[in-house]
Amino acid sequence: MAHTLPPLPYDIDALEPHISRSTLEFHHGKHHQTYVNNLNALVKDTDLADQSLEQTIKAVAGDDAKLGVFNNAAQVWNHSFYWQCMKPAGGGEPSGALADRITADLGGFTAFVDAFKKAGATQFGSGWAWLVLDNGSLKVSKTLNADNPMVHGQLPLLTMDVWEHAYYLDYQNRRPDYITTFLDKLVNWDFVAANLAAA
Ligand code: MN
Repeated sequence: MAHTLPPLPYDIDALEPHISRSTLEFHHGKHHQTYVNNLNALVKDTDLADQSLEQTIKAVAGDDAKLGVFNNAAQVWNHSFYWQCMKPAGGGEPSGALADRITADLGGFTAFVDAFKKAGATQFGSGWAWLVLDNGSLKVSKTLNADNPMVHGQLPLLTMDVWEHAYYLDYQNRRPDYITTFLDKLVNWDFVAANLAAA
């Protein structure tokens, strides 16, 4: 059963002007598709061919000989998750149980924003910023390249891609502007809250 590219959960121009149609055409249509294609080629005719994406990620994590499989599988998962973490007219502050947990575990929404911006801005090179559930507590973290919190015993709740391909067409080298826009205009807090509620 080959892995497939999931469609974007909104129209390709729905995140404009914050993330352009051009960025999503490349990022979803080229980069994400390439990870899917690479993964399918790498697992073809192996014992991983019939495994789910999460099974594959967990099976090869930490195995240096399978680093290519891990990188492509995790990048497929990370991007599918990232698209859902955004929506048109998103951003701002969450409410309800999620807001209460951010206050209790992270010291409030402003403290979360500071930590999340710092995680995204200080990830040297390529990677991801995350809000995760770690031992029952919310935590902000960052990972390098394709790495995913699920192989570190954490449950991903929210992610932001900080690879240059995520923002360069729209923001060039201004990663902090992309991060601020992600938080102010794009975050889909309903998706994050649903992830927390399902934990
Ligand atoms: Mn990306």
